[in-house]
Amino acid sequence: MLGATGAVGQAFVRLLVDHPWFELVEVAASERSAGKRYDEATRWLGSEIPRQVAGMPVRSCDPGEVSAEIVFSALDSSVAGEAEQRFAAAGRWVISNAKNHRMEPDVPLVIAEVNPDHMALLEAQRARRGWTGAIVTNGNCSTIALVSAIAPLHRAFGIRRAVVVTMQAVSGAGYPGVPSLDALGNVVPFIRDEEEKIEEETLKFLGTMEGEGIRPANVVVGAHTNRVPVENGHTICVSLELEHPVAPHEARAALLDWKGAPAARDLPTSPERPVIVRDEVDRPQPRRDAGSGGGMSTVVGRIRADPVLGLRMVAMAHNVVRGAAGAAVQNAELLVATGRMPSP
Ligand code: NAP
Repeated sequence: MLGATGAVGQAFVRLLVDHPWFELVEVAASERSAGKRYDEATRWLGSEIPRQVAGMPVRSCDPGEVSAEIVFSALDSSVAGEAEQRFAAAGRWVISNAKNHRMEPDVPLVIAEVNPDHMALLEAQRARRGWTGAIVTNGNCSTIALVSAIAPLHRAFGIRRAVVVTMQAVSGAGYPGVPSLDALGNVVPFIRDEEEKIEEETLKFLGTMEGEGIRPANVVVGAHTNRVPVENGHTICVSLELEHPVAPHEARAALLDWKGAPAARDLPTSPERPVIVRDEVDRPQPRRDAGSGGGMSTVVGRIRADPVLGLRMVAMAHNVVRGAAGAAVQNAELLVATGRMPSP
């Protein structure tokens, strides 16, 4: 686990310590932490550090220091790009949560329920780069919440245009993250690079495999992003223009029918329902709904007509689990279940 001491790294640790298929054998972080015990190097954000990991020595993020075959990365983006390439070149499977490689044409950007077929990019990636390892990525936390909610509608009715307004939790900025005087009782209407990520990654997620690459979906997305004083759970208000316009009850039915791609259905981290529809007038809410499906379900509500684009709704997902660590662990499970990665 690279970046094991950070906010997302800790979520990975929680998911991996009792994982049925994977064993967490090594933790690594910056030179500030290397050489210390994990519990000394980490400002643990929960109550107890799992005992299996507390006494582990923190290693440097160097393939010579880390021997595991599968390397999860929650590294800061200032270092993730190069570090992940070194591990892939050294024959490791790098399952990354960082932004650096997501938009490269030969790197899969995958939500297991939405586009598992994009893992086929790995063949071209390894051939082109001469790697015995590989890099697989999951998306930006808001993009994952958005795409998980709109993919069923895109598949059923086609999306032409989307206008998105996010209300993003402070945990999305890592630890210590947003200064308290900026966060408390306030809204910050800017998150660096976030709007661009939502607008670009969405098209890759919803795109189709063609030959050795992805043809981006023919959808236009416009995003406004805001940081709000919420601990966990990004909320997204979205208005959609559909190729085949439908009434809100038909959109609701398509979301209720959605079970996600068959390849994702029985993975240990997959929730029973990837999308949960709430009919109460005031849901979803991060405080009440961020834990749905163990933090892996995207909760959708307020599905109604939109006088401008046709349809609107609110989606919410746990940014650290569905939007980060859980998505990456699920991608690793997908690789094992489909025989691409060595079996446990
Ligand atoms: P964070 O709390 O700041 O943690 C950053 C991690 O990177 C720490 O383990 C840190 O180790 C390590 N690191 C920093 N500089 C390093 C260096 N020079 N060499 C090696 N390791 C270094 O950040 P985070 O929120 O967990 O985010 C981690 C990654 O996930 C980022 O790329 C972020 O963009 C992405 N992400 C975050 C979220 C979210 O909701 N938070 C969602 C999606 C994606 P030390 O403790 O030793 O400094």
